[in-house]
Amino acid sequence: MKAIVLRAYGDFDRLLWEDVAPPCAGFGEIVIRNHAAGLNHCDTDLRRGLFGVAQAFPHVMGVDCAGTVAEVGPGVTAWRVGDRVMPHFVLACGACRNCLRGAENICLKAEILGITTWGGYAQFTKVAQHHVVRVPDALSFEDAVAGTIPFATAWEALIDVGRLRAGETVLVSAAGSGVGSAGVQIAKLAGARVIATTGSAEKFAAARALGADAVVNYNTDDVPAAVQRLTDGMGVDLALDMVGGARLHDAIGAAALGARIVSVGAHGGERVEIDMIELFRKHLSLHGCGRSTRAIFGEVTGLMAAGKLLPVIHARFPLAEAAAAHRLMESRSFFGRMVMDPWQ
Ligand SMILES: [Zn+2]
Repeated sequence: MKAIVLRAYGDFDRLLWEDVAPPCAGFGEIVIRNHAAGLNHCDTDLRRGLFGVAQAFPHVMGVDCAGTVAEVGPGVTAWRVGDRVMPHFVLACGACRNCLRGAENICLKAEILGITTWGGYAQFTKVAQHHVVRVPDALSFEDAVAGTIPFATAWEALIDVGRLRAGETVLVSAAGSGVGSAGVQIAKLAGARVIATTGSAEKFAAARALGADAVVNYNTDDVPAAVQRLTDGMGVDLALDMVGGARLHDAIGAAALGARIVSVGAHGGERVEIDMIELFRKHLSLHGCGRSTRAIFGEVTGLMAAGKLLPVIHARFPLAEAAAAHRLMESRSFFGRMVMDPWQ
């Protein structure tokens, strides 16, 4: 099969389109013929060797993909050849303490698809039968890949962890990012008022089209001051941040008394100085998350299939041109996700 193979960390030219041996389904495993593969922020970190988990080379990255079951190994009872599936990136063990109490997303022995195992940047990917969810017939593989991780991440942050309630006001930072555009839609679906931030005025219209009630430019405006103006001095009840750095400061500054702040990323600054006095005097809660569960994957794929959540695709690439997709990701000049076709 063809795959994008990484033989060393480095620049875009490390992404090599090569022939490798196709995977073979062992006991309890299935092989998926990928129809679409997604590009995630962590992919560019991994390529550069900055992810923090060492890979054995050669490595095939790719945290998300979707396709049809091409082969089932012995002992597989849940799936048949031809079923439409996508793997959940947390390849949970199913037996540890956290798995047993229903928190398989923080499995103590999890492998991570495309990080510790070969992932979706290939024509075929192998996982265990309990690592996939069904892709509804009404949902294209492209949309499944574009939408599932962002919507599931935003769902976990806003609904499960952030406990968002109808009528509340939410700040979503970086509405042009995958999780940001998903967060705007989920917050609206939950009945909240959404204040979105973007890094350029060109993205305002797109953020409003997703449902944002107000948009603030975090590069040119004072976000906490703008939020205070937009909320009659109250601040927001919940803030979703996937950037860290100055954006986390924006979230803390924009937070109402008793607000929740949920952090799912830190590409804009991994070390942030926090005024602890502000944190406790405002009764703020700061939560971290970012690994959704398979149950949430099921929720959001159903809502996408029903047309209630709309995946945002910025660009499509042949998988062979993954380097061009990585270049676009690093430019930050996009709104939505990049999806790659392994057969083009
Ligand atoms: Zn486990």
